[in-house]
Amino acid sequence: AEPILQVRDLCVRLSGRLILDHVSFDVLRGRTLGVVGESGSGKSVTASALMGLVPIASGSVKFGSREVAGLSERAWRALRGRQIAMVFQDPMSAFLPVRSVGAQIDEQIRAHERLSRTDARARTVQLLQRMEVPDAAQMARRYPHQLSGGLRQRAMIAMALSCRPDLLIADEPTTALDVTVQAQILALLREVSQRDAGVMLITHDMGVVAQSCADVVVMYAGVIVERGSVETILQAPLHPYTQALMAATPEIDGPRPARLATIPGQPPSPASRPQGCVFQPRCGYAHEACGRRPPLRSHAGRDVACVLYEGAA
Ligand code: SF4
Ligand code: MG
Repeated sequence: AEPILQVRDLCVRLSGRLILDHVSFDVLRGRTLGVVGESGSGKSVTASALMGLVPIASGSVKFGSREVAGLSERAWRALRGRQIAMVFQDPMSAFLPVRSVGAQIDEQIRAHERLSRTDARARTVQLLQRMEVPDAAQMARRYPHQLSGGLRQRAMIAMALSCRPDLLIADEPTTALDVTVQAQILALLREVSQRDAGVMLITHDMGVVAQSCADVVVMYAGVIVERGSVETILQAPLHPYTQALMAATPEIDGPRPARLATIPGQPPSPASRPQGCVFQPRCGYAHEACGRRPPLRSHAGRDVACVLYEGAA
């Protein structure tokens, strides 16, 4: 599949500290990429960098064939919403409380396209219907607080899609929802990735990745530690951090690593990031060789950054 987004050696520095350290991945047309890790792993900063909301220190970010690292704020504003749209955990933050949901989606549509009010509303209703909102025309007239969390989330995705973006970034979009509604929203996002736009799904939950992503990037302390197809990685997670994340997700069937690095403690803050392997302080396999940062290397059908897999074929 052709890449919608290519990120190469993306580095982000905030207050002098390296927050993202040479992050590289692709989002492919028709597939959902999961970006998974604990809070503080750099997932949301990655999303912010891709939205032009934090400065890119170095590296390359390409939408289609267009390099966007280094664009002016004005150029970013034109991209945001149009080519790249985002949905968040809390849809209330995306909507003004004092106007109907439909009016706000209409307005988004009309900000990007010359359409009459009537035509914009017709498009809004169509989008809500595609998001499986029941009685969409009625619902469009409601205020955000009059909708359930699940309906609000559907409305936010509809609004994000209203300008036909090439890439939809969803940051923990289902974290606040109950399991049934979560599954419905994930199914919708999967459909979006197949029909409309590339989807990058940010989550702390390996179960969400297993359920809805084709590819995955595992992040820890601003570094990618494992990257590949979900199928390959769920079958045999190699990085001790990926193994620990999976072990913390009881609903995934699959191999349990013999020796669990069930990670007490917290990911390091960027200020105290270790010199060598970033996972070293919490890794059950840590040894001398881990004092040097292992690069991502291709091994057993995926890329992994861990000395345990160096040297072996
Ligand atoms: Fe653990 Fe060493 Fe591998 Fe890092 S490089 S994950 S510390 S074994
Ligand atoms: Mg976050």
